[in-house]
Amino acid sequence: MIRKPVHVAMYSGGASSVYVAYHMLKTYGRENSLLFFANTLWEHEDSYRFMHEVADYLDMEITYRVDGRTPEQVIYDYEFIGNSRLVKCADELKVRQIIIFLEELRDEHDLEPILYFGTGSQEQQMVENLKEFFADFLFEPVETRFPLISTILEEIDIKQIIEKEWGIKLPIMYKLGFSHTNCGGRCVRGGFQYYAQLFQTWPEIYREQERMEEEFRGNFNKNISILKRDEGPLTLREYRDELEQNGLQRYLSFDDNTVPCVCK
Ligand code: SF4
Repeated sequence: MIRKPVHVAMYSGGASSVYVAYHMLKTYGRENSLLFFANTLWEHEDSYRFMHEVADYLDMEITYRVDGRTPEQVIYDYEFIGNSRLVKCADELKVRQIIIFLEELRDEHDLEPILYFGTGSQEQQMVENLKEFFADFLFEPVETRFPLISTILEEIDIKQIIEKEWGIKLPIMYKLGFSHTNCGGRCVRGGFQYYAQLFQTWPEIYREQERMEEEFRGNFNKNISILKRDEGPLTLREYRDELEQNGLQRYLSFDDNTVPCVCK
């Protein structure tokens, strides 16, 4: 039996994801579309505000899924803290929820999902990974689309449109200098620039992340850390010492903006 297509935006507190959702709705109509959000419980409260204001503007409900664990709890479950190359938290809290949801759409509603991501050409590796992952999806592939790349959307000033035309304030994290809004600035995929930014903006959250890392290392007696230098661990505590000694400026200009999470 041929299933009816349903267009599913991977919706998050990021500007590109909500613009892609808008573009999808305009193209296929509300009645054929869904906004999907998997909550990690670490998002910044202003990102929730932004998501809801945009959903109201689009006159759509958000379909929520929540595992119930935070990234820290997943880190403990797997005894693995994660880094820019490999994480378990995204797999468990986002990807797994997407998989469950897609199976529900097919098995319970006879719908064929087509997924829309706000990932752009500057994150080509992420695009390839997502395409590959969903092409090999269980027994049947799931189609993925990347309108920022496949149309001219990358030439549009998305942030300007959201603020000026839609009248919706962007998430505060952008204004504070973060390149993405995932997990309220605590992403374990973050690199040197990202953590310098976090330390400058919200030192108390940096220390919370430092606490998590220290407790993890002590609990499991593992010499691993989120940041790496010369292929070895560099703890957030050591990095903070360095930031305090040397000043933040040169670290803030590092070009190591790391790959954001799955549903950017
Ligand atoms: S944003 Fe980062 S910390 Fe949060 S789930 Fe994704 S990889 Fe993990």
